[in-house]
Amino acid sequence: MIVGNGMAGHRLLAALLKHEHRPRRISVIGDECAPAYNRILLSPWLAGETEREALTLRDANWYAEQGVELMLGERAHDIDRERRRVTTGSGREIGYDRLVLATGSRPAMPDVAGIGLAGVQGFRDLDDAAALTRASRTGRRAVVIGGGLLGLEAAEGLRKRSQGKRGMRVCVLQRGERLMNRQLDATAAGLLRQELERRGLTIMTGARLAGCEDDGRGRVCAVRLEDGRRLPADCVVVAAGIVPNAELGRRAGLETARGIVVDAWLTTSDPMSHALGECCEFEGRTYGLVEPIWRQVEVLAARLCGASGDGYRERPNATKLKVSGISLYAFGPIEPDAGHEVLTYHDPQHGDYRRLLLRDNRIIGAILYGDTAFGPWYFEQSLAGRDLGACRQALLFGAGDAKPLLEEAA
Ligand SMILES: Cc1cc2nc3c(=O)[nH]c(=O)nc-3n(C[C@H](O)[C@H](O)[C@H](O)COP(=O)(O)OP(=O)(O)OC[C@H]3O[C@@H](n4cnc5c(N)ncnc54)[C@H](O)[C@@H]3O)c2cc1C
Repeated sequence: MIVGNGMAGHRLLAALLKHEHRPRRISVIGDECAPAYNRILLSPWLAGETEREALTLRDANWYAEQGVELMLGERAHDIDRERRRVTTGSGREIGYDRLVLATGSRPAMPDVAGIGLAGVQGFRDLDDAAALTRASRTGRRAVVIGGGLLGLEAAEGLRKRSQGKRGMRVCVLQRGERLMNRQLDATAAGLLRQELERRGLTIMTGARLAGCEDDGRGRVCAVRLEDGRRLPADCVVVAAGIVPNAELGRRAGLETARGIVVDAWLTTSDPMSHALGECCEFEGRTYGLVEPIWRQVEVLAARLCGASGDGYRERPNATKLKVSGISLYAFGPIEPDAGHEVLTYHDPQHGDYRRLLLRDNRIIGAILYGDTAFGPWYFEQSLAGRDLGACRQALLFGAGDAKPLLEEAA
């Protein structure tokens, strides 16, 4: 039984069905009403760049054709590990041999006054995106809390959606001193800010939320900052981090920390229960991007089908921003340390910036803004730990220039 029909749960299901020793019966419980969809595409959908149908991964018929018992709009409420049964919110009891928790995460809501008001929301699922689309039609001012990947995608989505209509004014509040401070250095963050402001977003850095104001009817009408400033808002989007949905596992007595603790085989403290995706925690780490989750799926699918294989291991991730017209690619440390060498190319007129961090001629990190075509090649070289000393002068110009020099040296 898989609990959670999101990105991880669905991908696991697809991997199990493909396997020659697939489990004989598979049931899936998902509390969203729609069959699995591509959550990543919520941002382009909000921005009006893609249709709703493009998000659907599989329709309900597909599950039936595969012999999968699918329960949508049902929330798994309790797990009886001794009897191996899951009880849902509607009181159904379903037995299992092996249980997989793929319950994802939810937006972290700051503990401030007014956070529960109507018009204050996260950006996580179809309902959130639909509510934001409605807000973009009627609202005049939106405030997005969080200048990370998700916050910027939400802000740009709202701005684009309302373009040509009333034109919603969208302001992004970022606690830190720069946008995407977990991925970008000051130069790249500055270029990004310039471009977003040119498009019409207001960006406020060093801005800390103190609370949301009630319009007297239970709806938000403004946000207040810690420094006393007041920003009128009829829509507030909170994109300031996520919290793993670990409660179901915790209530069932599984070992949990921030997430449900798993080993390299995605097995919880109960050998019959597994967890993967954003609800799990491995070696103290929790997840927020799909790349590591896809690798978890491969490991767990093999395990559940009785195949041997390597366990899950951490690997660095690269980050991209899905805002059309802005290309950005980053991985590795943001600030150089004493052992790093820094290679930089910056063309301010064309908004093109590349910064590589090297140690012993090996790429440790990259930040690319503007032309990001070389990003995946840098990432590949970094994962391979390749000595690039022979093509150092050509490195900033990508594989085309660097490869011949490497081949010559070899
Ligand atoms: C707007 C947006 C854009 C994103 N863009 C990117 C991107 O560009 N690149 C990237 O790598 N990642 C991106 N992500 C992150 C990515 O979507 C997540 O990493 C991924 O969805 C995690 O998969 P998951 O299955 O763990 O969680 P989810 O996809 O959230 O699925 C969990 C599912 O479990 C259900 N559930 C929870 N509790 C229960 C219960 N008790 N009973 C039944 N069902 C339950 C939830 O309703 C949900 O349907 C984005 C996320 C968002 C919100």
